[in-house]
Amino acid sequence: MRTPFIAGNWKMHLDRRAIAEFCAALRELARSRPPARMGVFPSFVYVAEAARALEGSGVIVGAQTCHPQGSGAFTGEVSAKQVRDVGATHVIVGHSERRQLCGESDADVRARLDAALAAGLDAILCLGETLAERKAGETARVVSRQLGAATAGQSGEPFSRRVTIAYEPVWAIGTGVNATAAQAQEVHALLRAQLAAAFGQEAAAATTIQYGGSVKPGNIAELMACPDVDGALVGGASLEFPSFEAIVRQAAPAPHGAGRH
Ligand code: PEP
Repeated sequence: MRTPFIAGNWKMHLDRRAIAEFCAALRELARSRPPARMGVFPSFVYVAEAARALEGSGVIVGAQTCHPQGSGAFTGEVSAKQVRDVGATHVIVGHSERRQLCGESDADVRARLDAALAAGLDAILCLGETLAERKAGETARVVSRQLGAATAGQSGEPFSRRVTIAYEPVWAIGTGVNATAAQAQEVHALLRAQLAAAFGQEAAAATTIQYGGSVKPGNIAELMACPDVDGALVGGASLEFPSFEAIVRQAAPAPHGAGRH
């Protein structure tokens, strides 16, 4: 059974007071048993406070990246062990902004994923094609390469339980132009088929695959109606509690979602 999962990637936004207010509102929302699991990913400096504020609520708190090494002379970096140590349970790896702005390769993303899992963190693994790649008809090749780099040599369990895949077409991130439901479903189905080839049907069916890229209250229901869309990684629309709540409340799986059990 895949439970929908809505995660807010707060990037380098929000301050201490805004996060405290958001977390208090999230605690209330969690009590009302919404249809989706919820997670928030603040800047490193607020991870500990958010984790404390949401302790016992069921709301996931994670970091937006981690360094592959456990410790060492890496000025300005934060290890997965340290993220875990302050109470977080998750980390995002491979976000396109890290791939593009920080030059993270597939191998770098894999190293961070391995470090996260070894430290006891679960992960959201982001992948997706650029606009140029989509226009060149390379979407399937690109996402397959990115997923393959993350799955090589892994076993389906615990991968399917501990790693959420976030398909985030780069051209849809922060642009206001989301992938259509059909575009998202097509790639999600490809990713699930690749997981099935690597790990078997059962593990593939158990893996949560989020869509990310300009998700808003107005488009989440249509995306969630796709059988292989299991939730969303949300940037801009996760920064205000009312829009995050509106997304979460509409994140019930499609009643007859073919891919869900
Ligand atoms: C993101 O950065 O992960 C993202 C999906 O951003 P937005 O929702 O703003 O497109």
